[in-house]
Amino acid sequence: MKTLLRMKPVFQEKIWGGDRLRTVFGYDTPSDKTGECWAISGHPNGDCTLENPEFAGETVGSLWKKRPDLFGNLPGDTFPLLIKIIDAKDDLSIQVHPDDAYAKVNENGSLGKTECWYVLDCDPGTSIVIGHNAKTREEMARMVEDKRWMELIRQVPIQKGDFFQIDPGCLHAIKGGTLILETQQSSDVTYRFYDYDRLQDGKPRTLHIAQSLAVTQVPHQAEPPKQETFSVGDATVTRLVTCPYYTVCRMVLSGKAHMDWNQPFVNVSILSGEGTLDGQQVKKGDHLIIPAGYGPMDLEGELELIYSHV
Ligand code: ZN
Repeated sequence: MKTLLRMKPVFQEKIWGGDRLRTVFGYDTPSDKTGECWAISGHPNGDCTLENPEFAGETVGSLWKKRPDLFGNLPGDTFPLLIKIIDAKDDLSIQVHPDDAYAKVNENGSLGKTECWYVLDCDPGTSIVIGHNAKTREEMARMVEDKRWMELIRQVPIQKGDFFQIDPGCLHAIKGGTLILETQQSSDVTYRFYDYDRLQDGKPRTLHIAQSLAVTQVPHQAEPPKQETFSVGDATVTRLVTCPYYTVCRMVLSGKAHMDWNQPFVNVSILSGEGTLDGQQVKKGDHLIIPAGYGPMDLEGELELIYSHV
C-alpha cells in the first residue's frame, strides 16, 4: 500500500481563541482558548509529529532533513508551507507581514509571509480587515499617531466559502466569529500594528509600528485571484489561487474520482465528510501529505477537502 503521511496537529492557545477546534472538528484541544491548529507544519514553533508507525517519533521537520526524497528533493532548510485552522472567537490583532527580502535582512534570514484564507464558517454579519484607506505613507503615519484606526482600516463582509489571498504588505485581521483554513509560507514573522488596546496577563502585547509602516503597501491595491473550476470524475475542483509560493485548490467529491499527483508533495486537509484515498480511510479533521512520486490515486466517498502544493 502506498504511504500517506498522516499528521498529528499541534494546538496553540491564543487570547482570541475559542472552542470550535474541539466542537466542530473533535480535536483534543488544551483549553477553550485554542486559537490555532497547526495541521501540517514543519516549523520549529509547532512541528507536526507523524502518526505512521513506520515513521514513529519523526516530525515533518525531521523528515524534511532525513528523507528529502519524500518531498521531491526540494531545496531549502525547512518544509516551505504551513497549514492552519484558525478559530477566532475574538478579533486578531491588525497585522502585516514582510516579504522575503525584508525578512531576510531584518528577521535573521527568516522567510517572509504570504498567506491565504478559506472561510470554513463565520457568524452572521462577520467581516475581516483587508487593506486600508491611507493614500500616502505620511497620511498613514498621521492616522496611526491620532489613533484613527477605524478610519484607517478597510473592512469587508465575509461569508462561508469566501477566499482571500494576503500578500506581504497587505494590512489584515481576522475578526471574531470566524473559522478559517489558512495556507501560508512557513514563517512566523508578524508585525502587530494595532491590538485594540487589549491586555494579555495585564500587559499589552508588543506592537511593531515602525516595521508595519515600513512594509505596508501604500496605497492598498489588490486584485482578487482568478479562480478556475473543473471536474475530475465525480469531483468538482476549484483552483482558488496560484502564487509564487503555493497553489491551493478545493475539491468536493460525491462518488469516485481518479487523481494523478505529479507534485513534490501535496498537503490535504479533509474539511467534511468521509471516504477513502486508495482504500485508506479519511474523515473530517484529518490532515496528510501525499509524498513525491505518489502518482495515481483513487478517491471515493463524500468528501470536501483543500489541497495545496508548492
Ligand atoms: Zn497574518
